[in-house]
Amino acid sequence: MAAQLDAKDAKPPYAFKRVDAYDGGIGAFATRDLKRGEVILHEPPLVTATMATLEQRVAALDEKTRKRLFSLCDWRAERAKTQKTALGVFQANGYPCPTAREPDAAGVFLKFSRFNHSCKPNAHHAWRKGERWIFATHDVKEGSELTTHYVDLFMTSEDRKKALKERFGFDCVCRGCEPTPKLRVAFSDARRAHMRQLDEQIYDKASRGKHEAAIRDVTERLIMLEEEELDSPAAVARACDDAAQAAAHANDKKTEKEWLERARAESKLCEPPESSELEELERRLAKLGV
Ligand SMILES: [Zn+2]
Repeated sequence: MAAQLDAKDAKPPYAFKRVDAYDGGIGAFATRDLKRGEVILHEPPLVTATMATLEQRVAALDEKTRKRLFSLCDWRAERAKTQKTALGVFQANGYPCPTAREPDAAGVFLKFSRFNHSCKPNAHHAWRKGERWIFATHDVKEGSELTTHYVDLFMTSEDRKKALKERFGFDCVCRGCEPTPKLRVAFSDARRAHMRQLDEQIYDKASRGKHEAAIRDVTERLIMLEEEELDSPAAVARACDDAAQAAAHANDKKTEKEWLERARAESKLCEPPESSELEELERRLAKLGV
């Protein structure tokens, strides 16, 4: 398996190119057709740190890694025409990279940082086994831009735009935001808000014995995820896992197994081999014994 991944790494399925939409910034583009669930990239962080350890960690970097770190964007410094700082680079590019020893750590990545945001992304990222992994969430055509998400996609378009502007300094012009007709954005906002509500209610419903209603909510969520083009394997797996847990509350092992099997199938499209998340699903399925 490792050899296969290494061989793929030698010829990555993406290349970086200039993107007109973001002031001469760059983005990642598919160099071949990709299937839903394919690994696009897995990459260790250049450095991880907490607010308390940042300066010290950066000072300890070798020259090559330090250069790479400062090749990343610090948009606040660039606009103010001041020197980039490690804190600025972390604020603009850092992602949570929790470990048992450092649950609050964030890390920055040379390649992952160059994938642009979309509110309808075609790639999903996850922190697994000490690396940032990116998977295709849909089939992607050669030449298409590969996009991931920087903010919570279940916020309204206005709130996403505000969060992106404040933290990353850009106006989102993705196909979910601009120049999408206002009415379509309003529908999208309503759908996303409704999905969030269904998501928040599920544990409450399941624990109050309303497991059938909880599972109906999951089915509704799955339909809306697809309509909103947010039906990534990770989002679908999570919804299926919620349905499995609702069935477990009702001690309906057959239904629980069906949903867990679906969660496992989707998880295989958004998890590295033998991840602890996959192993946990296998363990729950084995325990069911039906
Ligand atoms: Zn957008």
